[in-house]
Amino acid sequence: MTRRIWLLVPFILVVGGVSGQVQEDQLPEDLPHVRVVATGGTIAGRAQSAEAGAGYRSGSLPIEDLLVDLPGLDRMAEVSAEQFSNLPSTGVTPEQWLGLAQRVNTIFAEGVDGKAVDGVVVTHGTDALEETAYFLDLTVASDKPVVVVGAMRPPGTVSADGPINLIHAIQAAAADDSRGRGTLIVLNEEVHDARDATKTHTRSVQTFQSRSWGPLGRVGREGVTYHRRSEKRQGADLEFDVSTKSIEDLPRVDILYSYNGADGAGAQAFVDAGAAGLVIAGSGGGGTSRELGETLRELAEAGTWLVRTSRVGSGSAGSWGRGTFVGGDDLLAQKAHILLMVALMHTSEAEEIQRIFREY
Ligand code: ASP
Repeated sequence: MTRRIWLLVPFILVVGGVSGQVQEDQLPEDLPHVRVVATGGTIAGRAQSAEAGAGYRSGSLPIEDLLVDLPGLDRMAEVSAEQFSNLPSTGVTPEQWLGLAQRVNTIFAEGVDGKAVDGVVVTHGTDALEETAYFLDLTVASDKPVVVVGAMRPPGTVSADGPINLIHAIQAAAADDSRGRGTLIVLNEEVHDARDATKTHTRSVQTFQSRSWGPLGRVGREGVTYHRRSEKRQGADLEFDVSTKSIEDLPRVDILYSYNGADGAGAQAFVDAGAAGLVIAGSGGGGTSRELGETLRELAEAGTWLVRTSRVGSGSAGSWGRGTFVGGDDLLAQKAHILLMVALMHTSEAEEIQRIFREY
């Protein structure tokens, strides 16, 4: 009896009692407790009208509004929620990545209001969703699932995808099979690995793809089904403890895009501005123009970290490295940016950085 009341009360508090007004005896026993942490994005956008393609303000609606009336949720999980921020995703800063990672670690370690949490869902704008997701993938040291979710169409417009994506994200966060897989990305009925997935289309609801490896699985009416597992270190196996870190510990790392005719001016300017490392989105397998290559060699000899990735969008740019030159393998530049920041927060040994790039 006590257990059932415990399940019902937070849901009523958080969602304003709309979907929560289920009779106590209709609730399944021992539902997993999923904590939703909201950061903003189109999924929380306020549209100017209900028309398809209507203009909207990203990151406007509170999480309580998004959780009202999600059909079937009350049979899936006990859901509680908090507002971390309400922003378009390009407004999310490295300091907020750190704060969010610390918050999610605390939620898992301490629970919420004295109740253990089984999974966390982070709502987020899609433009930079993959960056926050990979930061969490590297810094949330728990086998409990973290699922990052967004939407391409704002609430209240024709065929808004936020409500179904949010239901699927909660379903994935509540699933036992999601444990030990690090941070996941859920949109359009697919479950992706945070390291591998990227936004590939500016408008389509089928925008997230893991181009080199494909999705991890699917989520829908039939539940959550996984087809593959990442071989990278994730979850409880992580080595990066960010509990006592602050923004001063996160070094500046910049990204340089390769193009024919590029000289070294951009690379030099980033280093002059304080960059400890540069990620190069090189052409093809990671190449650059001769002039840029010469500047990069000089910078590497002077101690700047350089990670080689490819602007192609899939495939490896090589995993070999030497000294401060690091092979980014199949990491996209924006993911290598995060891995280098997190790695440099913990070590400045060349061999260790090379190892980290192989293992994560
Ligand atoms: N501009 C939005 C954002 O990233 C796009 C989205 O959420 O889909 O916040």
